[in-house]
Formats: sequence, structure tokens, C-alpha cells
Amino acid sequence: MLFDVVTLFPGLFAGPLQESILGRARRGGTVGIRLHDLRRWGIGAQRQVDDTPYGGGGGMILRPEPFFDAVDWIRREYPVQAERVVLLSPQGGRLTHDSARRLAGFERLILLCGRYEGVDERVREGLADEELSIGDMVLTGGELPAMVAIDAVSRFIPGVLGRKEAAEEDSFARGQLDSPYYTRPPEFRGRAVPEVLLSGDHGAISRWREKKAREATRTKRPDLLEGDGQHRRC
Ligand code: SAM
Repeated sequence: MLFDVVTLFPGLFAGPLQESILGRARRGGTVGIRLHDLRRWGIGAQRQVDDTPYGGGGGMILRPEPFFDAVDWIRREYPVQAERVVLLSPQGGRLTHDSARRLAGFERLILLCGRYEGVDERVREGLADEELSIGDMVLTGGELPAMVAIDAVSRFIPGVLGRKEAAEEDSFARGQLDSPYYTRPPEFRGRAVPEVLLSGDHGAISRWREKKAREATRTKRPDLLEGDGQHRRC
């Protein structure tokens, strides 16, 4: 799967996308990530990408032309069959387990990162297929949300995770949270690993995990059991 990211700050992506699971997936060719500097499609000698808002008010707004030109260029240079253009925005639909899995079904995502006071509305109206938010808070730019989206979506791409079922066993996959985990040592500062996990009885371990997952959900996220959890929206 391919991610084409349009951003004013491509340098921000260097660390998180090079290391660990995502780094391995990129090197192995399962995931491709291309970063495109929005300023390349800036206007005039100054390569201007922003301007003051009509109607007044503080802050600068990213102009529409560079985004439209960037997407035209990406489509020309790297044509694909099934793509989705996603505008990162605090006003978008929430990124969840379900929406990440849905987005992993596309051959390519083009991720548009806003900055400053935001992006000219015509980008949302005429270019983006959808707006995507990582939560009800406002960040300084769309780069961190884009990285979060790339990470969450990539977990659903076959071959990215070591065990292919893992993404479907984690929290939210079955409408509940994951069970607790323990590793060595068997006792630490007066706290022992639950006996059943050391028993070798796989049936009993599986029943314990199911029970603990339900308990964790009931205690920490009862909304998931009521079926009105955010994770269901996409
Ligand atoms: N004026 C905008 C508003 O209140 O809706 C906020 C603009 S924000 C400071 C600048 C950019 O950061 C946005 O255009 C968007 O790309 C990104 N951004 C900020 N918070 C985000 C969030 N929660 N999810 C996704 N993108 C976000």
C-alpha cells in the first residue's frame, strides 16, 4: 500500500517512519511512503502557499492551488486504481479501529496536512474524499495526525505485523479491550503473575483472557459494551 503525504514540513516525518515495524515494512516494500513538499507547488517566485483569510481574522490560511497541483502531479506520476484523498482536520470523522481497517483497503492514500489557521475550504469541497481527525483536540499541524493514520492503517496491511491475526486481537477489534499481559519475572515487588498463565492449560488461559478483557472493558470503557463507543464510527 502507498501513502503520498503532502506537507509543508516533510522533515517532521523522518524518525517515526524509519524505525521498528513501519521501517521494516518500508524496507520490505509492503508499505511505500512518499513525502511531497507543498512549497514545490507554491505560487510565484516566493513559492507562496498561504495567505490572509477573506473577511479578516488572525492567522494564515493555506491556499487551494498548491494542494490541487500536488495531487494532480502525484496522480500523473504515480497512477493507481483505487485511492482516497484524506484531509487531516480536527473537524473530520474520527480515526478508529474500523476506519483504519477500511482505509487499508485502498491501494493508495493521499494525505493532505494543514497548518496555521487551516486550509482553504475548497480543498475539502473539491479535492478531499474525506476529512479525518485523530481526536477532539487541535494540533499545530496535520503531520502528527498523518503519522498516526499511517501507523494505524499499516497494521491492517497483510505482512506488516509479525502475526497476521494480531490487529484483529488487539483492543477494539471485537468491540472490547484487550486482556492484560505479563512477562518475566514470575514475581515482582510483591506482585505475582496469575497462576493460570503459568499452568500450561491453554483452554483455561483462553477463558481467563476473555474474562479479563470483559472486566477491563467494563471498568475502563463501558461505552464499548453499550455499543455507542466512538470506535464504531467510521
Ligand atoms: N482552525 C482549525 C479549526 O479550529 O478547526 C484548526 C487548524 S489546526 C491549528 C492546523 C492543521 O492541523 C489543520 O488544518 C489540520 O490539518 C491539523 N490538525 C489539527 N488538529 C487535528 C486533529 N485533531 N486531527 C487531524 N488534523 C488536525
